Amino acid sequence: MHPTLADDLARFPELLQSARDFAVRELDGLDDRPVARLDRAPGADVLPDGGAGAEGALARFAERWAPGFSASAGPRYLGFVTGGATPASVAGDWLTGAYDQNGSGAAGSWAAALEREAVAWLRELFGLGEAHSGAFVTGATVSNTVGLAVAREWLGERLGVDVSRDGVAALGPVDVLSGSPHSSVGKALSVLGIGRDRLRRVPVLPGNREAVDVDALERALAALDGRPAIVVANAGTVNTVDFDDLRSIAALRERYDFWLHVDAAFGGFAALSPAYAALVDGLDAADSVCVDLHKWLNVPYDAAVQFTRRRDLQVRVFHNASPYLGLPTGEPDFLHLTPENSRRLRALPAWFSLVAYGRSGHREIVERNVALAARLGEGVAALDGLRLLAPVRLNVVCFTLSEDPTPKRVAALADAVAASGEAFLTPTVYDGVPGLRAAFSNWRTSKADVARVLAALSARD
Ligand SMILES: *Cc1c(COP(=O)(O)O)cnc(C)c1O
Repeated sequence: MHPTLADDLARFPELLQSARDFAVRELDGLDDRPVARLDRAPGADVLPDGGAGAEGALARFAERWAPGFSASAGPRYLGFVTGGATPASVAGDWLTGAYDQNGSGAAGSWAAALEREAVAWLRELFGLGEAHSGAFVTGATVSNTVGLAVAREWLGERLGVDVSRDGVAALGPVDVLSGSPHSSVGKALSVLGIGRDRLRRVPVLPGNREAVDVDALERALAALDGRPAIVVANAGTVNTVDFDDLRSIAALRERYDFWLHVDAAFGGFAALSPAYAALVDGLDAADSVCVDLHKWLNVPYDAAVQFTRRRDLQVRVFHNASPYLGLPTGEPDFLHLTPENSRRLRALPAWFSLVAYGRSGHREIVERNVALAARLGEGVAALDGLRLLAPVRLNVVCFTLSEDPTPKRVAALADAVAASGEAFLTPTVYDGVPGLRAAFSNWRTSKADVARVLAALSARD
């Protein structure tokens, strides 16, 4: 064994202690450090020859890189939709690394059974029935990709072709219909060989909405003349957190032949609160569902879950068995369900958080975030020079400058807020108007944080 490695093996407990002490200092400092670092990162260093040892690596990281990391784990990083990591999930994540299990399947470990338990708990949390099965993947983009891959296989079933063997060309052009799809849907269609341009926008409801107009969707489906299609319904749009009417969309399947995929990346968490659960009414009727976990479940990156009612088709797409041995039967190992073969046991952090805080603990995070978004929305509406672009429906505040909201002036406001170190918001364009989004999905955020964000917004020039 290399001497430095042997030395580290002997000092493993001390190293873990040092990493722990460092992490505690960094997390304790979240309230005070700048929320985002916008200046340039240092240039790349040369590959070390003589190793510094793990303590040396920690020291070099602390000096060169840690100062430039954002406070995205903290309460005022409101850009994109960014979750933090609950204490239990961080502990679970550390143990995931320490155990280093391969979550691909049975492989002489109970790890896969733990993942199945976590998936079943999540299914229950989101109000899905037993007909849905699922797996952990790295994020909502991959969850959408898996759901749409199963949809693609289903189209093959309807048209009498085997897409996993014959390729997507055997299907001919595919119709994908959606009101306000997330950008990751286009990316998934590109990866799947369906093509980004096959995604057709269906009109949304009038009156400052992003939810699909179900009558318009019905007209689009009728125009397909019986050709099977894919509908991507959206449960929580990123700008205004609008929800498609899932139940009415699902009911259209009585007359039209389509696969219903629901992107509930963060909107799925509405199911946790009786106050908002009606927004995802009908989710269980979907053929496939995407929910992100590194957003509103507040587990570390990279974690999402995908569900589908057609595991048989999922296995046809993703199975890694030799064709001569046939498809796996019974409970398929995870390597037959997801794009990866070898996989990190990313279920463990989620399992820890669900055991630690339960349904009610995670419901409290959702309800508090929603209340804080409403509070910021009221504050923004009352500030001179700012106006809301849409009502605050759930956990995102979408707003802009009251006067002359050019892209340049809006970007300058975002930069000024980031430069204050107090908060981080990301720009968007809503209904043709440049604006900013403040998305609440971190378990740490409090009323005091909203006050700090408002102060940063009102201090602008
Ligand atoms: C964030 C998000 C995605 C993509 O999620 P990643 O985890 O970044 O891959 C997809 N859909 C919606 C609605 C989202 O909010």
